[in-house]
This record gives sequence, C-alpha cells and structure tokens, in this order.
Amino acid sequence: MKVAGHFPWPFLTLVLVGGKCISLIERLQNELSPQLSGDNLISATAPLRWSDFDAPDPGAVVNVATESDVAVTVKYCVAQDIPFLAQNGGNGWATTFHLNKNGVVINLAGLNTVIFNADRTQATIGGGSNVSNTINNAYDAGALVLTGNCNCVGTLGAILGGGYGNLMGEYSFGVDNVLSLRVVTADGQLHDVSATSDPDLFWALRGAGPNLGIVTSATVRSYPASEEDMQGWAGDLVYSEDQLEDVVQAIQDLTLTPDMVIFLYFLADPTTGTPSVIASPFLHRGNATTGKAAYSSLYAVGPIADTTTVLPYNQWNNASTSLCTRGSFKPGWAAGFQNMIPSTWRGIWEAYVAFQKLPGAANSGVLLEAYSLNKARSIDSSSSAFPNRNVNFNAFAIPWYNDSSLDAKAAAFGNTARDLLRSTSGLPRNQTYVNFGHGDEELEVVYGDSLTRLRSIKRQYDPKNVFNQWFNIQ
Ligand SMILES: Cc1cc2nc3c(=O)[nH]c(=O)nc-3n(C[C@H](O)[C@H](O)[C@H](O)COP(=O)(O)OP(=O)(O)OC[C@H]3O[C@@H](n4cnc5c(N)ncnc54)[C@H](O)[C@@H]3O)c2cc1C
Repeated sequence: MKVAGHFPWPFLTLVLVGGKCISLIERLQNELSPQLSGDNLISATAPLRWSDFDAPDPGAVVNVATESDVAVTVKYCVAQDIPFLAQNGGNGWATTFHLNKNGVVINLAGLNTVIFNADRTQATIGGGSNVSNTINNAYDAGALVLTGNCNCVGTLGAILGGGYGNLMGEYSFGVDNVLSLRVVTADGQLHDVSATSDPDLFWALRGAGPNLGIVTSATVRSYPASEEDMQGWAGDLVYSEDQLEDVVQAIQDLTLTPDMVIFLYFLADPTTGTPSVIASPFLHRGNATTGKAAYSSLYAVGPIADTTTVLPYNQWNNASTSLCTRGSFKPGWAAGFQNMIPSTWRGIWEAYVAFQKLPGAANSGVLLEAYSLNKARSIDSSSSAFPNRNVNFNAFAIPWYNDSSLDAKAAAFGNTARDLLRSTSGLPRNQTYVNFGHGDEELEVVYGDSLTRLRSIKRQYDPKNVFNQWFNIQ
C-alpha cells in the first residue's frame, strides 16, 4: 500500500511509501529510473537558470537522454500527480513558474542533436539544443537557421513562443519555419505533428508550445549558405546620454531592409559602470561601407565609439555573451509598440539610471529590437497561434540585482518602463511577446486573438492542465 503526503520540511519533500518516508529523488530512483534509458539520469539540481527571480525550485531533476525518457517521465508524473516542467535553455524569466520541491524538472539538455538533410534545406533540432549549439552545427553544415540572438537561449524555447532572430527579415519568424514537431503530450504519447497531422496542435504549438506538450525535436527550414551568406556586419555604436533623443529618432527614421536589424541598449559600460546608450546594428552580408550606408542616420548622430566589424555566422552572437550570464534576479517587463518616441525613451532612461545606480544593480538594462517585417507579414497571421506579427518594436527593462531588498524598486523601474511603452504604443490594446512577458499580463496581452482557439485546443490535448507553468492557458 502506498500513502502519499507532503511534510513541511524546508528543503526536502518526503512522501510516505509503504510506511517509510522517502524523498522525491529516492522515489524517482525507485520507480521511474528503471523505465529510463540510463541508470544515472536523476539528480538533485538542474542546470543554472538565467534568472533566479521567482525561479523554479524542483525537488528532483530527470536528465533525459532520449525522447522516450521524456514520454515515460511525463506519463509517470501525470499518473503520480507530480508537478513537472521542461527546462531547455533555462532563460524563461516569467513569474508564471510555480514549481517547488514537490516537483520535477525535465532537463532537455541531453536532446541536443542538430541534423541536416542531404541538401541542407531542413534541420531537425533537438528539444534541448541551445542557440549556440544550433548555430555551430549550422555553420559546420554550411546552412543558416532562424534562431534567437543570444547563445544561451533554448532554440526551441524561443521558437515555440514566436522566435525573433537576426535572419527573420529574410526568413520570417521561427514559428513560420517549423515544418514538423515531435511532441510528448499530456497522455505521455509521442506525436508527429505537422500541418497535415494534428493540424490544430501544429497551429497551437507555434506560439503557445509550452502549454501543450514537450517538443523533443522540431524539423525546420534551413537555408544552404555561401561563404558570403555566412558573414554579417555588426557591433556597437555608443552615444552620450544627451544624444538619446537623436538616436531614438534615427531608429524611427530607419527603413529596415530584410537584411537589417537594429537593437538599442541602455547598459553599463563594462569597465566604468557608467550607464550608456548603445545602438547595435546588424547587416547580413554587410561590410563597413554598406553598413555605414545602411545605418547612415545613426552615424549622422555622431557615435562616440564604434566597434562594428564583419563577423562569421558562428560569432554573430558574441557581443551578447555578457547578457547570458547565469543567476542574479532579473525579472523583465516588456511591451510591443509601433513607433520610437523620443520623450518615451527619455522617461525610460531616467527610470533606468535611477535604478542602475543602486548598489549591486549596475548590470541592469533596457533592450529594444526591431526587424524588417515585410516577409513575416506576407505570411497569413492565422497560420499559427503567434499573435504579434503586427507589432513593429519590442522592448523590455531588466532590473539585474542580487539583493531582494531591491525588489520593490526593481518593480517600480520595470513598471515605469512598461507603462511608458504601453501608454504611447500606438496599438489598440496592450501586446507583449509571450517570451518577453513579466508574468502578470492578462492572457489576451500575450496570446491576443489566438486565445479562444488556444483554450479549446488546450482542453482537448491537456484536459487536466498538467502543462501549467508558462502563461497558463485556462
Ligand atoms: C538573454 C536572453 C536573450 C534572448 N534572446 C531572444 C531572441 O533573440 N529571440 C527570441 O525570440 N527570444 C529571446 N529571448 C526570450 C526567450 O525566447 C525566452 O526567454 C524563452 O522562454 C527561453 O527559452 P529557454 O528554453 O531558454 O528557457 P526555459 O526557461 O528552459 O523555457 C521557457 C519555457 O519554455 C518551455 N520550453 C522550452 N523548451 C521546450 C520544449 N522543447 N518543449 C516544450 N516546452 C519547452 C519551458 O518548459 C518553459 O516553460 C531571450 C531571453 C534572454 C534571457
């Protein structure tokens, strides 16, 4: 006979099995491990997360090595009523996670293969492959794949919410490049999901993936690349604070061609800790001459430093390495909007510098990104659950600190930035890219018009709502 009950121990949840108290790890070792592909796949800790703010705090971790490990783990957890959460890149910062010592993290990092077909027009990416691993494999294969722009991000973690990246001006969002997915759903079964097989699930996974299952791999379009295709011109243009309005206006005035991307950062100078205004252009196949011409409006403002250079595909994300630093508290507040308005950005700057100067908060930042959207908008917006095709710009504030006594001030900074963006967004209602959401948004804000259909598909595929940790659709 098995009687289960939770004991209020501070760090360990014990369950009563056959009259004996055992930890969740021991229980998994006894009951789940024999069903897994290897003997030592259960551990106490998951790989470090990007942010420790409101982060999942599991009692045990299953380090899956095969897709059938995912299936048996989901089946087991559902049958035993054990909460669980897939972890891929571990970059999700939303406060919607609520996994504690009673729960299990399914660490997907072992599912990291990236396999190209013979003509390099398709890549099958493992559910645990991060951006760095995906790009390195693509680079070696001589192909380009749509990924996020930071190496530490889970490739599919980003794509399942939409998937913004340097190449989307040419190839559209990550969701638009997905051809099929292998998915473990709430019944513990593996499904091959595509436009012709499980079309509803295919639609829903591309925008709300973490609510419907665990994707063990996805086959996406890839683009065979010449030596020239593998080059990009990128770097930082640094400005003084008093040039902010001119920089914002220059970004507003840019016409982004498909090969162009522009980022704006408020970040501390790494050596002095001084808050800086940094515009970061990217031009696919660009060089110093074509780059300066494409971004002439930003050069006209007169940057005080310029680190732009030509980089090969496998180094495009190098500049964002410091953004990938693990740990610390990094809650994010984000909004989508239509126009760059200098007065809005002056207000955000003031909120940023006020927080950034607090002890231990120097690494805090504000990030804006804008892509050419013509290609993405040529694709029917009802073809996937991703609802953000209409949004021109996305930005977020990231208070970055270690001392929870700063929580209230961090929230004040984040809310001020988000309120400023929302109040001047030019959108009929608030919209936030789900993968940038803070976690307190109404579901309509992150799922938009897709929400009604998503609710119906969620009821069909996850009637007990076991995938409930990420902007949970109810
Ligand atoms: C430094 C940084 C840079 C970023 N850059 C970009 C960018 O360039 N483009 C962009 O679009 N977004 C970007 N993001 C946002 C990013 O898309 C989200 O943070 C995303 O949730 C991260 O996925 P992950 O796998 O790294 O995180 P995780 O925390 O592991 O996953 C986030 C959620 O997705 C679920 N999930 C992850 N993988 C799977 C899977 N295979 N199957 C089912 N569910 C899964 C998890 O269970 C969790 O609920 C960035 C975030 C950070 C912190």
